[in-house]
Amino acid sequence: MLKVCHLYPDLLNLYGDKGNVIAFLQRCRWRQIPVELVEVNVGEPVNFHDIDFLFLGGGSDREQNLMAADLLARKDSLVEAINQGLVVLAICGGYQMLGQYYLTTDGQRIPGLGILDHYTKAGNARLIGNVIIDMKIGAETIKVVGFENHSGQTFIGNMEPLGKVITGYGNNGQDGLEGVRHKNVFGSYLHGPLLPKNSKLTDLFIKLSLERRGIKQDLLPLEDRFEDQAVKVMVDRHIK
Ligand code: GLN
Repeated sequence: MLKVCHLYPDLLNLYGDKGNVIAFLQRCRWRQIPVELVEVNVGEPVNFHDIDFLFLGGGSDREQNLMAADLLARKDSLVEAINQGLVVLAICGGYQMLGQYYLTTDGQRIPGLGILDHYTKAGNARLIGNVIIDMKIGAETIKVVGFENHSGQTFIGNMEPLGKVITGYGNNGQDGLEGVRHKNVFGSYLHGPLLPKNSKLTDLFIKLSLERRGIKQDLLPLEDRFEDQAVKVMVDRHIK
């Protein structure tokens, strides 16, 4: 049984981010992989050792402020679980919260978990629009599509990005990098939501989650005609 945790679904759930959880669950079910969802809000208990896939969505600065202290209090158990292979996907505001800090436009410093080294400073312009990145999965490079809307500009230093920006802004609009990847922890600015739009990426998360449970197996292929076509439409529209 795989266990999925959506952390702060009431606060961090912008632009249909919950769709990431739905896509993960559904692609497991289509393959008869038993899977269960727990939703955890501020103040509610969760044992990360029991969780295989943890999802954190995006939020406004105000919402990030409302969950920051609660997340910090969970740091030790989260770090332990991550070191033991917990798979994490954090989008936009959630991604910012995994790093050192987020400095908002009005000069407020929202402390992050500091699990990863990145930091974020709000710029004057919002970075909005469709994004396409090249992402490596094993030996394959795939196009991942999504939508971004953030004022935060994130810098990941020497950490590995999720991918390279082909079109759009990505982490900061300057260095051509999008997201971050460290162990089984993935951060990205891509809403969309990301996983329904990118089935290969969903399957990567399912595979990693199964591996966390000690199950190494190739996933049954699914009929992805429409999903693949949807990615192709965006790629054709934005890459000449
Ligand atoms: N509040 C953050 C920013 O604007 C995150 C926004 C988001 O999650 N879409 O940078």
